[in-house]
Amino acid sequence: MRIADRLSCVRPSATFAVNAKAAELKAQGRKIVSLAIGEPDFPTPAHICKAAQHAIDEGFTRYTAVPGIPELRRAVGTYYKRCYGLEPPVESVLVSNGGKHSLFNYFQAMLNPGDEVLIPAPYWLSYPDMVMLAGGTPVFLPVGAQEGFRLTPQKLAGAITPKTRLCILNAPSNPTGVSYSQEELDALVACCVDKGVCVASDEIYDRIVFAPAKSVSAIRWWERCPERVAVFNGCAKSFSMTGWRVGYCVGHPKLIKAMDTIQSQSTSNICSIAQKAALAALEGSYDCVAEMAAAFQRRRDLALNILSSWQGVLCPKPEGAFYLFADMRCYFGKNGIADSADLCTHFLEKAGVALVPGAAFGDDACVRFSYAVADEVLEQALKDMEKVLPA
Ligand code: PLP
Repeated sequence: MRIADRLSCVRPSATFAVNAKAAELKAQGRKIVSLAIGEPDFPTPAHICKAAQHAIDEGFTRYTAVPGIPELRRAVGTYYKRCYGLEPPVESVLVSNGGKHSLFNYFQAMLNPGDEVLIPAPYWLSYPDMVMLAGGTPVFLPVGAQEGFRLTPQKLAGAITPKTRLCILNAPSNPTGVSYSQEELDALVACCVDKGVCVASDEIYDRIVFAPAKSVSAIRWWERCPERVAVFNGCAKSFSMTGWRVGYCVGHPKLIKAMDTIQSQSTSNICSIAQKAALAALEGSYDCVAEMAAAFQRRRDLALNILSSWQGVLCPKPEGAFYLFADMRCYFGKNGIADSADLCTHFLEKAGVALVPGAAFGDDACVRFSYAVADEVLEQALKDMEKVLPA
């Protein structure tokens, strides 16, 4: 069967592949613990579920406006007002089927064939493929564990060329958990804007940050420089709503209109019921979010404590999200292990723990651990790994 050429550059998501392999071993009767998970392990808060039930009960089950119901687009504005002190208007907001879909629409709207997109590596694994599907060319900017996975304005400036159309920033980051202070993020955005480069600031983990780090956003740049800066967020991670599929973009009204056009010819509006749930999430109390973030911080400390006792492993301290990204190249060359995929296979087979190879995120020296599991499960999994560390 003939499949379109544009698919030749696209890889299936590696996190799904690891979960599938783990499921296969489970089906064979093996006890497998997955630290490969990219979603919070908490239930969606009750007040959000109630709003969805109410939407069904009142028959709110029909098509809605493509970019989202106005009250939800307004609630996105309210979110920014509450968290960052400024309120983007409705025409600057588009609601899509998750943050992933928001970014997909954005690349489709922004890129012409050959446009280069600067992607600091390690990166969230969907960026390069989404860029390529839009005809763009990903250009990677490696920032390794030795640098604490922290991009500096100098390094960023050095990577920008006349062909650079846009740059993706992601703080807190998946997979590293690294975040920036507001000043640091501002300096990175300024560096792009000064050179006429657009910025996509993926802030999907902005509420999951650990003191003394603070939530940061490029939203002020959207106000200052709307033609250059777009901000992405969603309900999946903050409100434990991964399955509801609610993401949004704040950008220039012209960009929003273009993305709206793309969405109108592909998915149309997102699920009407999910929109009512998202409305309750964004307009309600954020105490539930803070509670989940506190649990993640506790687990970050627990896991980092164990990992840092493994000789030769380098794991910069994450300030947000729910991942640890550890440089484990010290094990390469032992037990026949050549790379991050071999290392993950080793831990899956010998310790029954599923992880994601760093290669999937553009850094083959590393492995990603998700701590979106109960404390005792996390601790046991790491102890089981400890017993089979390659020697
Ligand atoms: N951005 C980053 C960095 C992510 O890790 C994810 C999900 O894992 C997303 C965006 C997309 O989230 P969703 O499409 O579930 O809203």
